[in-house]
Amino acid sequence: MTDYEELRRLMVETQLVPRGIRDARVLEAMLKVPRHLFVGESLQHKAYDDMALPIGNGQTISQPYMVAVMTELLELKGDERVLEVGTGSGYQAAILAELAAEVYSVERVEPLAVKARERLERLGYDNVHIMIGDGTEGLPDKAPFDRIIITAGTPEVPAPLREQLADNGILVAPVGARFSQQLIRLRKREGGITEEHHTPCVFVPLVGRYGWKE
Ligand code: SAH
Repeated sequence: MTDYEELRRLMVETQLVPRGIRDARVLEAMLKVPRHLFVGESLQHKAYDDMALPIGNGQTISQPYMVAVMTELLELKGDERVLEVGTGSGYQAAILAELAAEVYSVERVEPLAVKARERLERLGYDNVHIMIGDGTEGLPDKAPFDRIIITAGTPEVPAPLREQLADNGILVAPVGARFSQQLIRLRKREGGITEEHHTPCVFVPLVGRYGWKE
């Protein structure tokens, strides 16, 4: 029997803490969420390795460190409504669900959305709502959001998502070229938006009306 709890502890101690993840709530969530249940059975033994893994339909579950960095940049306190664009496996959504009040996650690939929804239900996450569609349009009827996280690479932050960010809100996204991006963090204050640049990264493309074309 594999001791997944021990693998999670090692993941946190060797991949996250030494690279500067400090938010205690983020580290706790990463210790708790069973990442191996978000990948296919044949990849479960690699679930806690320092890498992204394939999840089918040409998509990936992000590297644990990238999930931790993006989550830390969101500065979640617990009462936020969060929009995630790019559900993928549902792992990032589960981490968000541990740290915020309500999570809406949009996925354009229907089979992935259906699988993620089943997983999250089975694990008891009743504060996550998975939607199928083009997340570059956001979710106008659920907006505004206190936090928005885009987990696919985009040439620029889609205009509808900037608009759907609440005042005092934070948006984190990998922005740049098709095969290499940089994490950026936007903060909205009194209607103005400031932008910070963070770590370089590589995500699968955000494909949609306000992202990359097919
Ligand atoms: N957060 C995921 C990893 C995301 S991989 C996890 O924790 O596993 C990026 C995902 O974004 C892919 O599943 C891809 O299908 C999805 N995606 C790409 N463009 C999208 C769009 N316009 N709207 C919604 N999802 C999109």
